[in-house]
Amino acid sequence: MTALKDLMLAQIAHSGPVSIASFMGDALMHPQYGYYATRDPFGAAGDFTTAPEISQMFGELIGLALAQTWLDQGAPAPVTLAELGPGRGTLMADILRATASVPGFHAAAKVHFVETSPALRKLQAEAVPHANWHDHIDSLPDAPLLLVANEFFDALPIRQFIRAGQGWRERVVGAQDGQLAFGLSDAAPLAQLAHRLADTKDGDLVEYCPALAGIVGAMTQRICAHGGAALIVDYGDWQSLGDTLQALSGHAPVNPLDAPGDADLTAHVDFAAIAAHASPAAYSRLTTQGVFLERLGITARAQKLATRLKGDALASHVAAHRRLTHPTEMGDLFKVMALYPATAMPPPGLES
Ligand code: SAH
Repeated sequence: MTALKDLMLAQIAHSGPVSIASFMGDALMHPQYGYYATRDPFGAAGDFTTAPEISQMFGELIGLALAQTWLDQGAPAPVTLAELGPGRGTLMADILRATASVPGFHAAAKVHFVETSPALRKLQAEAVPHANWHDHIDSLPDAPLLLVANEFFDALPIRQFIRAGQGWRERVVGAQDGQLAFGLSDAAPLAQLAHRLADTKDGDLVEYCPALAGIVGAMTQRICAHGGAALIVDYGDWQSLGDTLQALSGHAPVNPLDAPGDADLTAHVDFAAIAAHASPAAYSRLTTQGVFLERLGITARAQKLATRLKGDALASHVAAHRRLTHPTEMGDLFKVMALYPATAMPPPGLES
């Protein structure tokens, strides 16, 4: 039993079942017990690992793609170089190292992080000391914006609904026999899911991320008014269908209700929902991470780095390249979408 689970059970006994979004938000970000709020979950000793932690090549190629986008749009200065949910700060550190030789880029770029976890902000400050931190994307400067979000959207709380006739029953978290347990609310029609009546039948489960529209809106508003682009990398697909809520602890799946605050909780990203809120910005065709990184030249970069490596270091470098790009590893599951001004070209590696 975790302390957070006790707290949640007491709250449910007092006020009734909560939405999965409320459960997920507390499990990840409760100020005292939340998973991200209290720890560094990454790496071999942690619960999961992410692309920038696997290889420096990921951040280097993203950095060069962002710098090329900046050059293609006439090198505006100043420009906000922003990251949502930067974890350990590794991706931004790699972006900055790779772009150090792009003339004028570092002079123009001001680094801004959107991060709610105090524990991770500390690590980010070690990796990128001159960054500016925000609790929410809304306070980013009103200026040209180059933004990256890797494995950020999957951590945003989602609600789950099960189709019942022309309405929906919400899947909620309640209590049974002293344990957290899933339940179902009564059916009701829902305006925000009206568009899913066409592609679902009775009993189908759909997920809905309440925070997504506001976050995508804040990006597109800056990109359309001042220029720039946003690169979103995450696991998921075009219009997700079915239950994708997942908990990971020590690199293994666990029951999401078992140990809130002690396990990572995510859901697959619905890229169609991002595209639906992109207007008036353009969005690129959804592209797999493997194809995106190959188009940006990861194989040439991997070969160049390999010439300096031997033995175990070489073997783990080769494995990292494979892990990022191979269809049976992260290559197909992870997708990339860019948002950019309708008058501009998509960032390198992506198509309109
Ligand atoms: N991008 C990093 C870390 C991914 S984990 C990497 O690729 O390694 C998710 C990150 O998003 C963590 O830094 C977490 O603290 C942060 N995060 C989760 N929900 C957030 C929210 N609502 N607002 C801001 N940051 C959030």
